[in-house]
Amino acid sequence: MTPLTTHSLNTPFLGYAYHKIILDETGKPHDFIYLEVSPYFEALTGIPTNGIIGKRVREVIPGIENSEFDWIAFYGKIALEGGEAEIEQYEALLKRWFRIYAYSDKKFFFATFFIDITKQKENELELQKLTQAIEQNPACVVITDIQGNIEYVNPQFTQNTGYTKEEVKGKNPRILQSGKHPKEFYQQLWKTISSGNVWRGEFLNVKKSGELYYESATISPIFNDQHQIVNYVAIKEDITEKKIIEQELIKAKERAEEHERLKTAFLQNMSHEIRTPLNAISGFTQLLANPNITAEKRRNYGAIIQSNVHYLISIVTDILTMAALETGQEKIILSEVNINDLIIGLLHVFKQQTVNKPIAFYVTPSLNDNDAEIYTDRTKLNQILNNLLSNAIKFTDQGFIDFGYTLKTETTPWMLQFYVKDSGIGIAKENYEKIFERFHQADSSISRVYGGNGLGLAICKGLVELMGGKIWVESTAGKGSTFYFTIPYQPVNITKKSETNSHSTKKTILVAEDEEINYLLVVEFLNELNYNLVHAKNGKEAVEIAQNEPNIAIILMDIKMPEMPGDEAAQMIKSLHPNIPILAVSAYALNKERAKYENIFDGYLTKPLERDNFLNYITKFIEKDV
Ligand code: ADP
Repeated sequence: MTPLTTHSLNTPFLGYAYHKIILDETGKPHDFIYLEVSPYFEALTGIPTNGIIGKRVREVIPGIENSEFDWIAFYGKIALEGGEAEIEQYEALLKRWFRIYAYSDKKFFFATFFIDITKQKENELELQKLTQAIEQNPACVVITDIQGNIEYVNPQFTQNTGYTKEEVKGKNPRILQSGKHPKEFYQQLWKTISSGNVWRGEFLNVKKSGELYYESATISPIFNDQHQIVNYVAIKEDITEKKIIEQELIKAKERAEEHERLKTAFLQNMSHEIRTPLNAISGFTQLLANPNITAEKRRNYGAIIQSNVHYLISIVTDILTMAALETGQEKIILSEVNINDLIIGLLHVFKQQTVNKPIAFYVTPSLNDNDAEIYTDRTKLNQILNNLLSNAIKFTDQGFIDFGYTLKTETTPWMLQFYVKDSGIGIAKENYEKIFERFHQADSSISRVYGGNGLGLAICKGLVELMGGKIWVESTAGKGSTFYFTIPYQPVNITKKSETNSHSTKKTILVAEDEEINYLLVVEFLNELNYNLVHAKNGKEAVEIAQNEPNIAIILMDIKMPEMPGDEAAQMIKSLHPNIPILAVSAYALNKERAKYENIFDGYLTKPLERDNFLNYITKFIEKDV
């Protein structure tokens, strides 16, 4: 092939040059000489062409031999071996990109055709940079067409949503909707972007896995040269973690504010609670100083002062206990405690406190005296029950207060679950947890009506937790509340414990009796038999218990009871469990009365009960089980 004449290459786009290669003494290409260059060579390369012909490239472009690309070797190979080659190469000395076609028409000679592709290359690189910036962006990028169908998503989108590029292409981003935003929210969004504006906002969206997540998003239209919208681009960031932290901060702030508010209310309340008895003490002490008052008045004043002093002491004790609990100074002191004695003692104390209120008291000690002997902190247990019972009395105007415990054997260690149940004003569900916080009263108006400092339950909680248990409440507002708390069951009598361990398989005696004193008497009588005792306070309860309790050996049923009389309850139970013996226990002593019940009951016991007869009689019915 003969070289083209430069004349035929008189075009500003295409450059041409013809060269001869020069070898060193070892025969390796070392330089090349320009033999011919086209008219626009200078414009295309930036190399002055004046006098270039006959010059060596090392001269024309000083430093070319050290260039990143070894031009001399590249062309040398073609010139020596023949053939042709095509490359795209940047030359830093010329600051240009070239696309070059080189060939050799005869040994030692080579021609080049080239175009300057710097602009195109820069565009390409810029595009590549932009693409990478989007592909590798930590923000999620979604590009849709003007209908909202997805054309592009970056890898972060897959990371955030779990959907791959292929899965979402052509789909509407609607697939991410969680249903947590109203229709108007999306309408507003579309109105904004379709009118050419940028929308900024937050989504609560759903991932492919169904998990919800928060996104902060900027959605903007993309315009073409005619200023028509051709695409929409959404740049989004997963802000779930931020949101959670934000919500926690808000909660913490609210808690701090609430605490502050409670503290203020507590101080005001405390000031009132302390001043009232102090005022009485101070006033009546002054009156006592008067030498002319009668002896009776003196006694009365003394009693008033006494009771106010007691009240003050209880407040101070509460504050000190709370402080000791909070600073970790309250310690457990174990001793042997008979919890049956403890609750019966409390029963007597609290009954006296309610002589003026129409409140019936029930207690249910469910273990026999031997098993009820446990190691625990007597003072603390007493303090907890005292607080709960005081509250029960305070918040109950009429009805009943029922307290006691049951042994829970489903957990290790076994736990005693105490309860204090009342028929008082009850507690709204939203306050179930709050009332155990310091200074908290379910309703600030409560303190005005009922008094109190809001420390009682916080102390109970502190003490119960220190003893290794839990405390909680269940209630129906207006109907009454039941407070429960647990403590570990540590029986004193280990030898007896093995017997107690068979508690779960131990048989149960159900005693249906509305009079608490009568029930206690039966409990005392049955103490020496190794049975669980369950107390029903009326016929209806007896039926319910018989339905749920699997292991009943015998039922002792009072006849005259509220809600449902004993005979009716017995008939219902018989229809469910014909084999459980049911004995009537009644004060109806007349034969005529008894005859009426013969077909219903398996036996009949007449009140007043006599211990030995009673035990003999009932063991006949349960002997086979003992
Ligand atoms: P206080 O000294 O105010 O009684 P507590 O900590 O003992 O403080 O009780 C906190 C709040 O819990 C009471 O103010 C009351 O709103 C509610 N509460 C406690 N016990 C009962 C109950 N047996 N019946 C109804 N509400 C109760």
